[in-house]
Amino acid sequence: MRQPVPLTVLLLVVAAVRAATAQQPVPDAPLQARYLGVADRLIDSALADSVAWQRMARITDSFGPRLAGSEGLSRALEFILAEMRRDGLENVRGEPAMVPHWVRGEESAELIEPRRSPLPMLGLGGSVATPRGGITAEVLVVSSFEELERRAAEARGRIVLFDVPWQGYGRTVEYRFGGAIAAARAGAVAALLRSVTPNAMRTLHTGAMGYDTAVARIPFAALTVEDAAMLHRMQERGERVVVRLAMAARTLPDAPSQNVVGEIVGAERPDEVVVIGGHTDSWDVGTGAMDDMGGVVVAWEAVRLMRRLGLRPRRTVRVVGWVNEENGVRGGLAYRDAHRDRLAGHVLAIESDGGVFRPTGFGFSGSDSALAVVRQIGGLLRRIGADTVTRGGGGVDIGPIAELGVPAMGLNTDGVRYFWYHHGTADTADKLDPREMAQCVAAMAVMAYVVADLPERLPRN
Ligand SMILES: [Zn+2]
Repeated sequence: MRQPVPLTVLLLVVAAVRAATAQQPVPDAPLQARYLGVADRLIDSALADSVAWQRMARITDSFGPRLAGSEGLSRALEFILAEMRRDGLENVRGEPAMVPHWVRGEESAELIEPRRSPLPMLGLGGSVATPRGGITAEVLVVSSFEELERRAAEARGRIVLFDVPWQGYGRTVEYRFGGAIAAARAGAVAALLRSVTPNAMRTLHTGAMGYDTAVARIPFAALTVEDAAMLHRMQERGERVVVRLAMAARTLPDAPSQNVVGEIVGAERPDEVVVIGGHTDSWDVGTGAMDDMGGVVVAWEAVRLMRRLGLRPRRTVRVVGWVNEENGVRGGLAYRDAHRDRLAGHVLAIESDGGVFRPTGFGFSGSDSALAVVRQIGGLLRRIGADTVTRGGGGVDIGPIAELGVPAMGLNTDGVRYFWYHHGTADTADKLDPREMAQCVAAMAVMAYVVADLPERLPRN
């Protein structure tokens, strides 16, 4: 049963609500009301077909792996530029970038003791070769950098294997970046790494690794989760474990490449830009469908849809396929350098590089007032469940311009499966779902379009 509310209490409540509302920098309703119609058109048209998925599958099937410096990458980039022109995108162009050129060459590993068996292996990107005929040495298995430090005396002249349990990508990948350095510091002749993945299906996962000029450059390769665990068990039983590792990897001179760019030019403020995209390169195994041709195509399709629906926002929306994210970020750096004088006009940069699975929203790095605005835009994506905008986000390729003050955003997706396939042979088109990709297109299209069209520019700090 309700009690009658005294008038004074009612007035106090009204005043409190007014005060709370006044603290919000931009009221919700007008933005959402203004853009609801156009957002629904973009979403409907993104969900109407599977053009994005077909395009991702076509490119990854036709050109295969696209490591920086490879023929597959060069041909894919020319194809993308031709297709962007065919779509009617504006100012389609390649912007030059020099990229590293690492070539894997032949490689193998074999367990010699306590029993002979081939060991599936995958060299890590940037590794040096072994001498011809390989390196045969006793293995020291450790679970962490700390354990290696404790047992450094045992590492000299050996192959150090880091059998590090998955603790999330950010923490575990430190062993890929730093493993060869730590092992060399302890006097090891080569290093091995349990593949950086949460999923043990005897798959191999490569990725960038680091060297330090202060210590020797030793060869470094990944083993499967299963084999790393087996070698570890053998050591714990007191068995002598001997492995032969042979790698013929080479680093060639830097190669010319390009970022691929297309636009829909802004109707009122063409020099103000919302830049969206992903990276075109991949590792040299798998076809880089998830990482990251899916991300490139989703951004590209978002712009194509705007054009097809006759939507020309106030500001320019530019799609960029950055090159060489995987082992150099030269594309992201070249973009920063080529556009340095025009970065003040960059309103927002959005990258999709987490796999185009079911989208949940975006992560945003920028001012509080801008966050409030993009959260309202996120609300337009509620019907596809992509309406959560969290604080903090961006991408490796947009990192260099974010450092110079451009607000940055990353597309967030349901990433459960991402690291099952990441940097491995199983990163292929079938891992992505046409419907989920279409939802990612919708999310990118609505966010990019509305930010580009807002009457007031998205505030910086
Ligand atoms: Zn990636």
